[in-house]
Amino acid sequence: MNVQFSQRALALKSSAIRELLKITERPEVISFAGGLPSPATFPIEALREATDRLFANKPHAALQYGPTEGYMPLREWVAAQHGVSPTRVMLTTGSQQALDLIGKVLIDPDSPVLVETPTYLGALQAFSLYGPRFVSVPSDEGGVVPEALTPELTKGARFAYILPNFQNPTGRTMDLARRKALIAQAEKLGLPIVEDNPYGDLSYTGDTHPTLLSMAPDSVIYLGSFSKILAPGLRLGYVIAPEAVLFKLGQAKQAADLHTPGFTQRVVFEAVSTGLLDTHIPTIRSLYAAQCAAMMTALDKSMPAGVSWNRPTGGMFTWVTLPTYLDATALFQHSVAQNVAYVPGAPFYANQPETHTLRLSFVTVPEARIHEGIAILGSVIGEQLRA
Ligand code: PMP
Repeated sequence: MNVQFSQRALALKSSAIRELLKITERPEVISFAGGLPSPATFPIEALREATDRLFANKPHAALQYGPTEGYMPLREWVAAQHGVSPTRVMLTTGSQQALDLIGKVLIDPDSPVLVETPTYLGALQAFSLYGPRFVSVPSDEGGVVPEALTPELTKGARFAYILPNFQNPTGRTMDLARRKALIAQAEKLGLPIVEDNPYGDLSYTGDTHPTLLSMAPDSVIYLGSFSKILAPGLRLGYVIAPEAVLFKLGQAKQAADLHTPGFTQRVVFEAVSTGLLDTHIPTIRSLYAAQCAAMMTALDKSMPAGVSWNRPTGGMFTWVTLPTYLDATALFQHSVAQNVAYVPGAPFYANQPETHTLRLSFVTVPEARIHEGIAILGSVIGEQLRA
């Protein structure tokens, strides 16, 4: 076909990870690579009952077009969870769509966008379409370093993209002091924050820190998702923002897809309004806590000296740091040859990648296979250390 691709399309890069992950779909591969929630947590029966109720009661409205901002009872439910007005809430087609809409309405070519080091790859991909200049903010095991947000570094920035809880990819969490300092710094600089929080409910202990949104509702655009607490195939997330910002996001969303499926929104509302999450979230937490504990035991046992990793208190990932002279992308070939996969860390960096890092997901691999896979990975790393 004789098409001329747009500059935007020509700039699109296939994710290196996508190529790597194709290999990991082979059944013999023990894959710590995927970012998928465990299908064992999908509340099949509750969703089936919710769908049945919907068909029994109000099927026509569920199958009709609806408002761009979403199904009002679900907007109200989300608003109540976060103590905001429903007029600040819009349902989106996964929180990934909210990232794209934010890029559309806030990023001009070359406008600075602040990101953590490292950060969620899918956000880098979504924002990249709008041609920002990414500025990597120095970050440590406690998240982004607030003092690093100097007037020089943040000059002209459209927003800072922040993942305070059980971050993808590192699993790290910002403590309360860090959150307060970040908010104080952002407010001083007049810097909007985009808070992405799909893992916030997955604290193993149930303890949570306040959201940045709750601390500064007029400075934060908040993204939530049902992907990790119900199921990602629903493609349901939401954005909370001051009305003027929500209005622009709504205009962009209308052009993109008119609205998120009203059917899905009603099924989810039927399910969550019965209190499903009160019992369901604790079951996910305890499963993931056990999976994480198995991963920590396996790493303690099998990793050679010189390798370190963090001990997440929630979520799905841990982050492994190898000695600096090892390259996790090169190591991947050796590891996959032994049927063990992970995601190399480099693509999660907007600038200067730390190539000696990698991400492990521990929620979809059964415990016995975690031990087997980490023993193999440990020996592959050990061989490279000696090479
Ligand atoms: N943000 C982060 C940090 C994620 O890890 C993900 C999913 N991997 C998303 C957003 C997108 O999630 P969804 O579109 O399924 O809500």
